[in-house]
Amino acid sequence: MSAGEKSGYSRLPSLSLPKRTESELLIPFAVDEVLNNHTLIQNLTIAAKDAALLQGVLMRTKEDPTSSETICYAPFSLFPSPVPTELFTQAFEVQQDFNLLVDKISMDPEFLKKALASTIEADEFTARLFDIYNQVLEEGITQPITLGINRSDYMFDKRPGHAATLKQIEINTIAASFAGLAAKVPEVHRHVMNVWGKPEEAAKIQSNKAAKGICKGIAKAWRLYGSAEAVVLFLVERASRNIFDQRCLEMELWNKNIRVIRRQTMDIYERGSLDENKKLHIDGYEVAVAYFRTGYSPDDYHCDECWVARLMIERSLAIKCPNIATQLVGTKKIQQELVRAGVLENYLSECPEAIERIRATFVGLYSIDEGPEGDEIIAKAVEDPEAYVLKPQREGGGNNIFSEELKQVLSNIKDGSKRSAYILMDRIKPQAVKNYLLQSGAAVKLTECIVELGMFGVYIRNCNRLVMNVCAGHLLRTKSTEFADGGVSAGVAVLDTPYLI
Ligand code: ADP
Ligand code: MG
Repeated sequence: MSAGEKSGYSRLPSLSLPKRTESELLIPFAVDEVLNNHTLIQNLTIAAKDAALLQGVLMRTKEDPTSSETICYAPFSLFPSPVPTELFTQAFEVQQDFNLLVDKISMDPEFLKKALASTIEADEFTARLFDIYNQVLEEGITQPITLGINRSDYMFDKRPGHAATLKQIEINTIAASFAGLAAKVPEVHRHVMNVWGKPEEAAKIQSNKAAKGICKGIAKAWRLYGSAEAVVLFLVERASRNIFDQRCLEMELWNKNIRVIRRQTMDIYERGSLDENKKLHIDGYEVAVAYFRTGYSPDDYHCDECWVARLMIERSLAIKCPNIATQLVGTKKIQQELVRAGVLENYLSECPEAIERIRATFVGLYSIDEGPEGDEIIAKAVEDPEAYVLKPQREGGGNNIFSEELKQVLSNIKDGSKRSAYILMDRIKPQAVKNYLLQSGAAVKLTECIVELGMFGVYIRNCNRLVMNVCAGHLLRTKSTEFADGGVSAGVAVLDTPYLI
């Protein structure tokens, strides 16, 4: 067994691929050919929407987010978007490293406490999550098995005169979504290409097994829990517009003869309980795996009872995905602390190549806590606001601050402890591509876009041993360059497929 395998690693063969030239990256995939051919676009759009409905690329509507009586296609792009093969491969290859890193940090309370100390002072939401973490640490961790499902998101930073590079936006360690729908988009894009008369290009579009991969992880965790009668609990929001994405995973699990139940946090408060062995029960079911598709934003804890329910789950014997420690590892503050010299070395000293692979994806991230280090970077950002992004400790899109607003907010918070509720990050400047975005109710037009590639990581730790560590699949989201922030759920980005160039 190699040192790598001991730590739950199995290395992937490295692909040596030619470096792309700037002009190749600049050419948006075949869009020139369809430019101004309105009839073709119209026909392809009709075919694409019907294919999306047939394949199950679906979402509930804004108007009726709690019912499936009227549904719509989930927003998606008419064509796949170009993605450099070497950057896709790089993102794939670094995913196991990130899984391992996230897991290791989640087991280091001293680091989490120190790194999040100032954030907790300034941000009540992170403080409440941390209270729960502290409480379960004090009481002792009930369940030694951990299931991690994360998604590391990247953009392709493009500086004049240089090839595009893979740069991490963030890593989501809770409720990383769209694996279900993303796995269905390639079939839609293949169909569009076939209708267009491009069967060779259609055949080049890769399949995406993200949903299957994630469910392998959930199923393995369920088996390790060791009770055939126990269920997988999906914790969901009251209004789940993205329910079909979740249903894809549910169906996979049911097909493996694993019972799935869906409940809201308040259901757990009202009807959930822990028995003398800390087994979590609700409505007559014992919960083997508690999989969070909610619980990452203050709105998800709209009353104190929600916090009580979260604590109950956290204390239970159920395998949490994620546990509270892993959720905290996904905060923007921890991302920023990881960039500091020596931090990666603390966790991955047995694999220097992993450190290199991870570090290659980092851009500058900066603490703006009170003190000279923070003062200096604030001054730089006020001077050149286009070069940075100001990020509060929030998840779910639409919270980041850019450009003029960044300058204003920094000026407002400059003299106070509120600063610690934010971090600064170098702004990634991706190459624009062109595509047609299909969004219900919006006109279809050629749009200048940027893409964001996500890789899904799945791992399971049983006590101190990683028994699974994989990259399960990917997600490509595309949005108009008009928007600096905002995801698919926010109605800004659309689902896409990488067309590897
Ligand atoms: P959230 O947790 O809200 O999803 P993210 O860190 O993913 O936060 O940021 C949300 C969006 O903001 C991203 O999808 C991206 O469009 C934009 N963004 C975030 N960080 C950067 C960055 N460093 N450079 C450019 N755009 C960024
Ligand atoms: Mg994000």
